[in-house]
Amino acid sequence: MLEGCTPWPERVAAEYRAQGYWRGESLGALLRTAAEKFGPRTALVYGQRRTTYAELDEWADRLAAGFAGHGIRPGERVVVQLPNLPDFVAICFALFRLGAVPVFALAAHRQTELRHLCELSGASVYIGPAVHRGFDHRELGQALRAELPHLRSLFVVGEPAGDVLPLPSADPLDLPEPDPADVAFFLLSGGTTALPKLIPRTHDDYAYQCRTAAEVCELTADDVYLTALPIEFNFAWGCPGVLGTLQAGGTVVVAESPTPDQCFPLIEREGVTVTALVPSLTQIWVEEAAWTASDLGSLRLVQVGGARMKPEFVRGIGPALGCTLQQVFGMAEGLLTFTRPRGSAEHVLDTLGLPISPGDELSIVDEGGAVLPPGSTGELLTRGPYTLRGYYRAPEHNARVFTADGFYRTGDLARLTERGELVIEGRIKEMIIRGGDKISAGEVEAYLVEHPAVATAAVIGVPDEFLGERTCAYVVPHGTPPTLNALREAMFRRGVAEYKLPDRLELVDALPLTPIGKVDKKALVAIRELAAIREERDEHQ
Ligand code: AMP
Repeated sequence: MLEGCTPWPERVAAEYRAQGYWRGESLGALLRTAAEKFGPRTALVYGQRRTTYAELDEWADRLAAGFAGHGIRPGERVVVQLPNLPDFVAICFALFRLGAVPVFALAAHRQTELRHLCELSGASVYIGPAVHRGFDHRELGQALRAELPHLRSLFVVGEPAGDVLPLPSADPLDLPEPDPADVAFFLLSGGTTALPKLIPRTHDDYAYQCRTAAEVCELTADDVYLTALPIEFNFAWGCPGVLGTLQAGGTVVVAESPTPDQCFPLIEREGVTVTALVPSLTQIWVEEAAWTASDLGSLRLVQVGGARMKPEFVRGIGPALGCTLQQVFGMAEGLLTFTRPRGSAEHVLDTLGLPISPGDELSIVDEGGAVLPPGSTGELLTRGPYTLRGYYRAPEHNARVFTADGFYRTGDLARLTERGELVIEGRIKEMIIRGGDKISAGEVEAYLVEHPAVATAAVIGVPDEFLGERTCAYVVPHGTPPTLNALREAMFRRGVAEYKLPDRLELVDALPLTPIGKVDKKALVAIRELAAIREERDEHQ
């Protein structure tokens, strides 16, 4: 296994193989098998462009040969940052076949995040769009290479420039199969204390996740999956998402953006049956569905997950979209729970369902780590056949977030029903979920204190009708107090993804501290709640 990764213990791995979870199939072979079975059927749709399984298979082979020709070798890390494009799929399969390891950067990331991802992964290659939403990724790539000597090659989808190359293509090569037990790609952690950690996902574990998720969703070759969310999100890529649909022989429709004006006509035109959304988007879809001229009748299953939803909202989703709602709890680290399509109303509306694999182990513990009796609320711990055993190159962090027996501490407060269904009650970790984006409070605080007008800062999530949460920065000024705009501007100029810029600023003389001298975030949340009540009262007077 790639150095810096934590393998499953040999005995556990043997058990996962014996149970048939891990089949020794690489992700590159997953597409090969699908192409043999479903060759002339449509694998991908993007605008008017349609790609069959056979074409996608050959595209990936030619790209793999092209990358090999540029000296990309097995085990090399490649930071891939692309918006929703069919090229993303072909590039990933090419790298899987080559045994090179894509690192899934988010399309919204900017120089700060990309520098970090390149450094942490030791990437030698960056692949981006030429220009996306007015931002020139060729210049970004060049700026990164100027800073990072190990970053050797830059490729773009779209117009190349100078030594930023177009995607290569060459006659297919006979490439050795990568070890299915090895890392296929890296997903990013939502991060709670700092910039994202890298989550190694192996061929074996991810192939299993996609296959099992597809089975729970009852996906067949007749299904048409709409990639509305960013394709690099675990949810859209493999829950069952793009990979789960392709292994089942279905069609993946790639949407440029998740808005109803883009997606609703695609649903009608392509007969989309399944899609995945985050709660804030679902809200927009539900509102627009009442007015749309598009026929959404082909939809049979809409998965919603990634953040908490208000119970009263959950009830309206299925009826408004005319399909079955599936609640999803998940994390890029692994564990997925889904409500079952044929489950009772109570199961679907009041819980986040059951783990997708019989191999998933869930445990609820108290603050001291002691296992709590059934029905209690505590921190959710998990381990299983597609849940990581360690972040990449993060031994100290791993020592904190994994128990000695390999359980991952999720930082989520949860309880299990009598039937084993998951109910999320809150969060211990300092993560803000703003729409579909996860923001690390610690990371934003670190940017804020770099500003000369900030002495100290603490960031919390505050409830928001539309996004679920927004970020609120509590700042103790140093000298002339900063404005919200000045702080946002400074972060923007530093090259931080826009969704991380604070939404609100509260200037304070001091931050509340716990008895051991740490910032008391619970107290801050209480202060904010009180202030919100006062603001609402003042508005009504
Ligand atoms: P990520 O790995 O970035 O997808 O983030 C995973 C985290 O998102 C989980 O640990 C939860 O805190 C949160 N999450 C995911 N799905 C749900 C859900 N259905 N309800 C509440 N929180 C969720």
